[in-house]
Amino acid sequence: MTTPVDAAGAAEVLARHREVTVLCHVRPDADALGSSCGLARALRAVGVTVHHSFDPGVVPAALRGIPGTDRVVPLAQVPAHAGLVVTLDCASPDRVGAWERLAETASEVLVVDHHGSNPGFGSHLYLDPAAASTATLVLEMLEAGGYIVDTEIATSLYAGLVTDTGSFRWGGGPAHDTARRLLAAGAETEQLSHDLLDAHSFAWLRVLGELLTRVRLEADAVGGRGAVWLAVPHEVIAAADEDDVESLVSHLRGVREARVAVLLKEYLPGEWAVSLRSRGGNGGRGLVDVSAVAAALGGGGHPAAAGCTVRGDLEDVTARLRELLG
Ligand code: 5GP
Ligand code: MN
Repeated sequence: MTTPVDAAGAAEVLARHREVTVLCHVRPDADALGSSCGLARALRAVGVTVHHSFDPGVVPAALRGIPGTDRVVPLAQVPAHAGLVVTLDCASPDRVGAWERLAETASEVLVVDHHGSNPGFGSHLYLDPAAASTATLVLEMLEAGGYIVDTEIATSLYAGLVTDTGSFRWGGGPAHDTARRLLAAGAETEQLSHDLLDAHSFAWLRVLGELLTRVRLEADAVGGRGAVWLAVPHEVIAAADEDDVESLVSHLRGVREARVAVLLKEYLPGEWAVSLRSRGGNGGRGLVDVSAVAAALGGGGHPAAAGCTVRGDLEDVTARLRELLG
């Protein structure tokens, strides 16, 4: 049974434990790593033994600027213990990877997330789909529990906030208020924002140029809303930085003629990680809920940004997506 909790309730769960495993989702982004780094450091500061990990546990180079990522250990090295497991930014149990042995041994599992598609798991669920980032929820939890938010914690949490809000393009007043609190706590933002949002290798520009020639526009798709598609085959992915590949979706979502963007990434041969993005008209009207499309394929996310992983050849995967998008 899963008990829903708010920030104060989540802080009470944290306060019950002296040994805590902090996990975020597979193929972590800045919100997954930033929120977990912030929580891990706050718990260590009050003497808690913390194991900070994800499956399998190698931090992508582009995210190593987030304070605390140097203390991430491989999942295989995390001991099973009877304390607490916290999962951050994981919309479903499978997003945590192969963590069953840890969940089974733990006396409590606290799930902290902001994805509306989260079905609810763990012993305690702190879920707020209105929150701009999971980092926001960690800040709420730390403030409710009276933890000290130092410069490093604030910087880690800011990493999640600035990326999940598309540099504050969405998230509104509450996101700016969270930023204000993190800045007041000493968050260092300039180098971090460059590292997370702008930096890439020179070699990537050539790959990007070639990939952009492959983007397809279907102006009449999705009931006339238009869709852009790009598939990145395994041989291209194998030679590129994961973070650079993930950034491709931002080029697609800017296309005026399309309200829906689909990026297919063949990280493993025959297995496509799909990123879906959607944009409504004025005031968000006519927004296609891509989290429903992702959920139909075993994934999830937010109405305007969602993902899933589908096995099969590219034509089949594309056909299934096209049918679901309508
Ligand atoms: P992205 O396209 O950036 O990987 O993901 C967009 C959103 O969808 C993120 O909030 C991410 O957590 C969620 N998401 C991506 N892939 C999956 C998936 O396979 N399952 C679920 N439940 N959510 C996903
Ligand atoms: Mn997030």
